Amino acid sequence: MPQPEWERYKIADKYAELTTVRHIVHLPVARRIIEDGRIKSGLVFDKSRLNKSRISVTWLSANNWSLGSLYGTVEFQFDWEKLVKHKKIYWVEAMPNYHPPAFRFLMAFEDIASPLVTKYDPEKDDGPLRRVDGKWRWHPDFCSEFMVADDFPLSDISGLDFVRHHQNYCRTKPDCFEKIADPSPQTTSGKLLSYVLAHGVHALDKHMQPDGSGRNRLLDMASAWLSIGFNQVEYAGSVASNEDCDSVMKGALALFAVDKMDDGKRLLKLIAGSAQSVSALTRLIRIHFGSPTWDFGL
Ligand SMILES: [Zn+2]
Repeated sequence: MPQPEWERYKIADKYAELTTVRHIVHLPVARRIIEDGRIKSGLVFDKSRLNKSRISVTWLSANNWSLGSLYGTVEFQFDWEKLVKHKKIYWVEAMPNYHPPAFRFLMAFEDIASPLVTKYDPEKDDGPLRRVDGKWRWHPDFCSEFMVADDFPLSDISGLDFVRHHQNYCRTKPDCFEKIADPSPQTTSGKLLSYVLAHGVHALDKHMQPDGSGRNRLLDMASAWLSIGFNQVEYAGSVASNEDCDSVMKGALALFAVDKMDDGKRLLKLIAGSAQSVSALTRLIRIHFGSPTWDFGL
């Protein structure tokens, strides 16, 4: 019997514990996911042996990208144990020409009867994914790619974060704006918060919600980025009532959310002064998160 393909990628003495996997996307895709309320699976388009199959998958990975992500800047995290529960695991393929080489598994609730994939038992089979004494391990020298034949509602997400894009490569877009602009995690978080506040969507609130002492790492980062942007505005307008300032603020945030920073700042100039502008944002955040005493914590 020939050696299974996965054995070239097997865990020898080096492994990492597998607890969290990530779905990383560009900001416009993140906005769409929030609007849809779910990460929608899609057909496989790359050089995978599954690219002629009709199977729809969501891509997840255990890797943290020290040089920046090849997939975008918004990271949706999932708890591995929960994800893998009741699912069958199949070996799909290796992509030896990737840097680093990638291994791919397919996970599904149903049996998949296809000659393109091979059933994989993580307790017995000797590949880059193992379950030993109830704990999961993976081989961190490779790029791990888990294709899950499922959609994920946003309520399934165990964590949210913001990462840098790789400066030279993008796996999904040839002319990637985020690869060129290299936004900081602060910038991306600020734009995503703008989207959330302007549209009044609550699906990600549990990840940005202030705790008992009024703090949340992501909300603090995002709101600090917005307040820095607000300081650069030359306020010269006549809009001063709370109600009117709130409306202008929502319009500006809707523009920030779609990368129209200059237009957003031009709109904010209609507000009478910096104090009214900051108060409007504070009110919006307090109301959105139901946190009546929240402040910037600066
Ligand atoms: Zn990109």
